[in-house]
Formats: sequence, structure tokens, C-alpha cells
Amino acid sequence: MNPFIELGIRHDIVNAITELGFEKPTPIQEQAVPVLLAGSNDFVGLAQTGTGKTAAFGLPLLELLDFSQKHPQALILCPTRELCLQISKDIEKYAKNLPDARVVAVYGGANISDQLRQIRRGVQIVVATPGRMLDIIGRKAIDFSNVRYVVLDEADEMLNMGFQEDINNILSTTPEEKKTWLFSATMPAEVRRIAKKYMTDPHELTMGTKNTGNENIEHQYYVVRARDKYPAFKRIVDSNPQIFGIVFCRTKIETQEIAETLIKDGYNADALHGDLSQQQRDKVMRRYRDRSLQLLIATDVAARGIDVNNVTHVINYSLPDEIENYTHRSGRTARAGKTGISLSLVNLKELGKIRQIEKVVGKSFVKAEVPKGEAVVEKQLFALIEKVQQVSVSENHIDPYLPKIMESFAELSKEDIVKRFASLEFNRFLEYYQNAPDLNVDPSESRGSERSKGKSDRFGRDEYKSDYTRLFINLGSVDEFTRGDILGYICNTTQISGKAIGKIDLKGVYTFFEVENASVDKVFSGFQHIDFNGRSVRVENAGERGADEGRSEKRNRSFRNGDGGGRKRRENGGGGFRDFSGRRREKSRW
Ligand code: ADP
Ligand code: MG
Repeated sequence: MNPFIELGIRHDIVNAITELGFEKPTPIQEQAVPVLLAGSNDFVGLAQTGTGKTAAFGLPLLELLDFSQKHPQALILCPTRELCLQISKDIEKYAKNLPDARVVAVYGGANISDQLRQIRRGVQIVVATPGRMLDIIGRKAIDFSNVRYVVLDEADEMLNMGFQEDINNILSTTPEEKKTWLFSATMPAEVRRIAKKYMTDPHELTMGTKNTGNENIEHQYYVVRARDKYPAFKRIVDSNPQIFGIVFCRTKIETQEIAETLIKDGYNADALHGDLSQQQRDKVMRRYRDRSLQLLIATDVAARGIDVNNVTHVINYSLPDEIENYTHRSGRTARAGKTGISLSLVNLKELGKIRQIEKVVGKSFVKAEVPKGEAVVEKQLFALIEKVQQVSVSENHIDPYLPKIMESFAELSKEDIVKRFASLEFNRFLEYYQNAPDLNVDPSESRGSERSKGKSDRFGRDEYKSDYTRLFINLGSVDEFTRGDILGYICNTTQISGKAIGKIDLKGVYTFFEVENASVDKVFSGFQHIDFNGRSVRVENAGERGADEGRSEKRNRSFRNGDGGGRKRRENGGGGFRDFSGRRREKSRW
């Protein structure tokens, strides 16, 4: 007999999940399903990332609800819209053969009237992010008086994002006697607090050792100087031509910058964070899921709980602020029984953090070496050769051109042709890695030496991009410019090409931008006597303003703090909010 049937799941559902490739229950499903089917307890389920917690609550819900009734009976709350969509789609797949089952995804940034229409038509399962849910409750557009089950998925993250009050308000509209189920991969103090606050005598199930990471993940770390981080990261990516990875940064700004730099450097990469519009986020996720993106650069919040098949590497470009987040990050790989690598780029000072994470994750980390230039070049060359071997040739289409092609190569030997084809893609790497230095730092090296090598930003820019000059302009986000707008504005005003512009650092009342040295004069002359909204536009060399920058940065922060993001900002998520929330949290910090 199918083991899911033995657990008490009906044939219609088992048939649907069999099609998804679920042959037997995962440990958390095996243990949780019978308890939840009894429907008589509050419940806390702790299980490692990627072990099927969605089905562990989704399958029992489908068994317990009465689909002949059209009112909401289950409410699932989660922190981000990506997760909200993922959970609702997963449940819809399990319910494929239950024609009356209706699931609605309620999340911010999307058209509310569509969501209201779906609710009016009748739904039994509501999957929601707290902000939008509360909005809909406020409009008296939903009736939760018959809700029997509430599921809190990734509850600690919802609290981190400042959703506590919203959750209280939402839950106050549900009946006293409903059952609350909580699922998480880690049990930080917040989760413990939620369990206490929202549950009575919950049945607690912990799979494996509490808070430990997934066993199928190999953890590695690379010790590099801060200024070598970006080139080291590139080398690691270049030496894994088949990489399909998620790169974690600490802030939205860092996420955006790394993504932009990678794109400029020719990688299939894009950013996922809370400052993007919903359409942008959806597009990025879609491209990543269908593998047209190779690298997804994300904040902790944006990627929490995300389930994408066959992620090969999680890259901690910056270590997370909270240790638990390392577990959530690395858990984006090695899902559903597969294996994966989680690697971290650290400097000497951060080695202690690695030791602390090792303790939490319960596994020792392997020290890896940033590959040498020649090794990367060799990897790329053989990846290219493999590609050539595997490429499918469309005989019909290429045939008409063959005689001409043959003719052009008539003079060349087979060896020459092979060399030329290989060089076509390969030269880029050869050039880049010629004379490439060793980027590894010997941990026994003294700390002083790092400092004595001079300061640089996170791209190691002073070494790698000295052909740019950093300029200041007195226009910024308060003038309603986005990074793209200001790029366009500069190009239009000065008639230089966008390609001549490097990194753009948009601030409140001003912006720093990089310009190729050759175009700097053109920028200065282009901005002479230019007004914007009645104000005279000023461009200066940022190097000469260096002393001012630190102070302005602070001013900028308090500006952001005061920009009244309110609920929308929270709903958007993203690491930045926390820095400005001023809330005290109890997570284990370094
Ligand atoms: P978690 O919430 O525990 O991190 P998910 O619920 O997102 O994990 O599931 C991780 C992946 O495992 C998903 O792709 C899901 O389809 C798959 N999965 C879940 N249960 C099973 C099962 N019993 N057999 C095979 N694959 C499963
Ligand atoms: Mg999950």
C-alpha cells in the first residue's frame, strides 16, 4: 500500500502527490500527519530545511476541511509574497483532484481587487502575508469566524519584519477554539515566544537535533581579504561553470550592487529584495525557477523558505547578522534529499563567526582555497569542450551554409580550427586571469597586514576598476530619481553612453556615480549651467569630497528612517528594514 494512504491521506490526494514524485513521506510528514489529522492539538513542528514541511501541514489540512462549504476554514500566514505564492501553488497541486477545494494567495504589492474577488467567490484556504491580510480584514471583506486551523510558517521571520501586532490583530478575528500549527527549521527565542503566546499546550515534534542544519549540505569557507572578496567570488563562480546558486548579501543595497556588478561582468544574475516592485520580484523568481538566471542575489528575508529545485550552491557573500539565518540560507540547497554546497567568504576577523556557526549547525566546515587563475581557466576550457561535444546540431538548418563555411576554413588545419573555436569564448577568461594573484589569506598571517594593504570597497575596486572616477551629483532619491532614472538623466544631459558609467550609489539628496576616466571631462562640461526643478545641478569629483561622505551617510540613514514606509515597507521585506526598526530582538547574535 502507498505509505501516504497508510498515514490516512485519501487516494485523490495521494494520486496528485505521486505525480509530483512524492513516493514516501519524509520524516516530518510521517510524524506530523497522524498527529495533525487528529485535529485536536496545537502543534509545533521543527524540521530541517527542505524536508517537506509544506506538505506536512498541507496534506492534513486537505483531509480536515469541508470543501462542500465555501467559507475560510484554514489560514496560513507567512512572511513574504514569494513564499505565499509558493505555498498556495503547492497546496493547489496537492488538491488537484479535489474539485471544490479553493486556495487564495493574499499578499501585498498585487492587485487587491483580484484577491477580493477570489475571496467573494468562496475559499476554504487562505495563504497570506500579514500586511495585506489585515488590510482585507479592515475592509470587512473576509469572515474568519469559521476558521479551524491557523498555520504559522517561518514565524520568527514574520516577527523580525515587525509583523507581531498585525498577527495579533489577524488572529483576534479567528475563533478561540481554532488550532494553531507552527512550522520552522530553527527554534530561536522568538519561535519559543510565539508558541507560548499563541498556543495552548502544543504537541511539539523535533526532527533530528534542534536547530541543526540539513545533513546533505557540505559547508565550506574561504578566507580572503575584504578587498578581494568580489574577485574571489568571481573565481569560485568561474570555476563552477554549471553553478546554479543563490548568493546572500546582508542588505538590499549590497544585494543590488553585487547583482548589477555581476550583470556588467557578463553573468546571468539578478537581484531579489524588498525594494523591487512586485512585478520585478515575480519576474526574477520566474527567470530563476526556469533557470534562465544562474545566480540569484538575495536578502535573507526575500529568500526565506524559497524552494527551487537543484540549487547547487548557496554563497554567503556576507555572513548573516543572526546565526539562525545561516541555517535558513544554506537550506535553499540540498532540498528533497539532494546534496549541495553552502560556502562563505570571510576575512580573518570573521573566522570566529565560522566557529560559532559550526556549533549551531552541528557540522564542521571545510576550509577551501580560492582557485588559482590557471585552474579557473582550465575548468572553463573543459566546460567549453563539453558544451561543444553535447551541442545538438540542427542538420537541416546548418546544411545550406556548410559549403561556404567549409570554404572559409579550407586553409586551416583541423587543429587550427579547434584552437580558434576554443579561443572564441576562452580568451575572456585567459585575459582576465593572466597574472591573476593568489587571493587566499593564510589564517596564521597577522591581522595588521590586512590593514596595511590599504582600504577598498567591497568590490576591491581600487585594484580592479581604477579606470573609473567617482563623481558626486547633488540629485538623489528625494528628487524621485531611481538608479535607472539618474543613469538616463546623466547620459541625456552629457551625451555620454551608459556604458561609460559604472556603479551608481543613489542617496537621499545626492548620488555618487562612476564614470570612465575618458568621459569625465564630458560630464563636467555637460553639467555646466544645468538646472533641475529650479535648482542648479552640481557635479564634483567625489574623491575631493571624501571627508564628507561618512557624515552624509549618517544623514542619509536618518532620512530613510523617517520616510514613513509603514506597512508597505514591512510587507516588502528586505534586510534593510531591520536596521531602522529600532526593535529589540532576542536572537542569538555574534
Ligand atoms: P521545507 O518547508 O521543509 O523547507 P518544502 O515543503 O518547501 O520544505 O519542500 C521541499 C521540497 O521537497 C519541495 O520541492 C517538495 O516538493 C519536496 N517534497 C516534499 N515532500 C516530499 C516527499 N514526500 N517526497 C519527495 N519530495 C518531497
Ligand atoms: Mg517551508
